[in-house]
Amino acid sequence: MDNNNEKNEEVEESEVEAKDDAAVVDDDDYELLDFTSRVYKLVVEHGKEGVLQSELWKKLSLTSRDGSRLAIRLEKRGMIKREKVLDGGRWTYKLSPLRLPAQIKSIEQAPCITCTEEIKCAPTGVITPYTCLTLAEWVTREYLKSQNVSPTQEAIYNKIFTQKV
Ligand code: SF4
Repeated sequence: MDNNNEKNEEVEESEVEAKDDAAVVDDDDYELLDFTSRVYKLVVEHGKEGVLQSELWKKLSLTSRDGSRLAIRLEKRGMIKREKVLDGGRWTYKLSPLRLPAQIKSIEQAPCITCTEEIKCAPTGVITPYTCLTLAEWVTREYLKSQNVSPTQEAIYNKIFTQKV
């Protein structure tokens, strides 16, 4: 094993992590946000066994820098686990989902995956899932669909604000 390779990989990862910590999502990041959802979907598709991140970056034609940034975001959201593994003499990360949804389709459109406010969103923050209308709309829309009720804007708002359908 080449120690320099190992060190370089670790340095590269920590640099990406440090930059990600300081990052504020701006309007130009929408393409990257779309990739966040695609990365998560692929990780979930590989199930508990997990998948080497390099495989995902190849599939999505992502650079390792952009890919690592997305993986770190998903890890911080508590959606995936990043486990350091040795592969062919190089240190890399295996990604696996922390929770497996009953169906991938059920979370594919979840607004939190691509939300630009996610970095600031927390249970005790100013922006919080407890008062998020976007999240409430999505959950209500999915609920209405599961009940075979047409999820019109009126039905969604009635359900959210008056608990009537
Ligand atoms: S709860 Fe709302 S604000 Fe928070 S990450 Fe999800 S969509 Fe964004």
